Parts: sequence; structure tokens; C-alpha cells
Amino acid sequence: MTETPRRLVFATNNAHKLDEVRAILAHRVELLSLADIGCHADIPETADTLEGNALLKASYIYEAYGLDCFADDTGLEVEALDGAPGVYSARYAGGEGHDSAANRRKLLRELEGVANRRARFRTVISLLTDGHEHRFEGVVRGEIITEERGTAGFGYDSIFRPEGFDETFAELGEEVKNRVSHRARAVEKLRQYIESCER
Ligand code: IMP
Repeated sequence: MTETPRRLVFATNNAHKLDEVRAILAHRVELLSLADIGCHADIPETADTLEGNALLKASYIYEAYGLDCFADDTGLEVEALDGAPGVYSARYAGGEGHDSAANRRKLLRELEGVANRRARFRTVISLLTDGHEHRFEGVVRGEIITEERGTAGFGYDSIFRPEGFDETFAELGEEVKNRVSHRARAVEKLRQYIESCER
């Protein structure tokens, strides 16, 4: 089995994600961000799957810096829309993307009158150590409600109600979300893998 990576780059500059993942992996690895390694490149995310994008980002760092690293990619997959917006979740409403309010409005429009509101968030993490890829997936199932509720979180949180709860992610808040979320589940698998390497 591959040796435990002591220093690991998380291919992100999203401070929120970095904090979340640092909290889970603390004591296990020294986690470096892209800024920490002096990488200010706009890493391409041109694949048409979450798996492809996560690997693209991790490979970019591995090849450019020779450092063990991992990257994540997340999408919201809606059953009645054949898995859309999926890998295009950030840019669903078009343009350069990241207009979350426009993305939510578009999704609510697309689902107007649709009875099947089932959806899931899926996060894929691609870990590259010694040139080998290890992949971890985290999923949370739920449904898209018909109007926005709640103010916490980001992205599609205010229209996604996870299974087992009456509230949306935006109503449940960070603490609950971080226990059950797609990203938390994927990072937990990564943590278990890193721990198993230490034995
Ligand atoms: P990323 O791969 O983590 O950057 O996620 C891509 C897009 O998916 C984001 O721009 C959001 O629109 C959406 N997304 C990812 N994670 C979440 C989440 O936890 N809640 C709501 N939306 C999310």
C-alpha cells in the first residue's frame, strides 16, 4: 500500500472548503492550499464528469509541482433532469457561472409542475499519491423543494432538503450540514484511507 502522505495539497483556494477539510484531517496531514504552494493558475475544469474534473485538477498539481495532492468536484444531480445540472452546477444558468441565485431560479423553473423532485449532491475526490489515483465519493440524497427556504450555506442549499430532515440545508445550518453532506462524506472516506495507510 502507498505510504501515508504527510504533506498533502488540497487543490483549492476556497477558504471555506479548506477549513472544513482541515478540521476533518487535522493531526493526520499537513494540508496545503494552492496559495500555500504559490500556485495562482486557473486550473482547467474542462471534463464532462465530476470524476474527470477532480482528476484534471489533481493531475495539474501533481505534474507541475510533484506534490501529493487531492482535488474535489461536486454537482447537484436531479433525477427528472437526467442528472443535470451535474458537472455544470456552477454554470447552470449560463455565462461565466457562479451566479448561484440565477442557477437556483433556473432549476426551479425547469422543475415547475414536475412531481419527481428527487436529487442528490455528489462529491468526487481524486487523491494522487506517488502518481496513483485513489477516488472517494460522497452522496447525500434529498429533494428540490418548490421555493427557497433559509439563509445559511451557498449554491443550491436553500432549495435542497436532505432525506431525513424537514428543513433545507440553508435552514439546517453549517453544523448539521457538515455532518451529513456529500463533501463531508467524501472527506471522511479520504480520512479513513489516510488512517489505513498509517497502520
Ligand atoms: P464545487 O465543485 O465544489 O465548486 O461545486 C460546484 C457547484 O456545485 C457550486 O458552484 C455550487 O453551485 C454547487 N454546490 C457544491 N457544493 C454545494 C453545497 O454544499 N451546497 C449547495 N451547492 C453546492
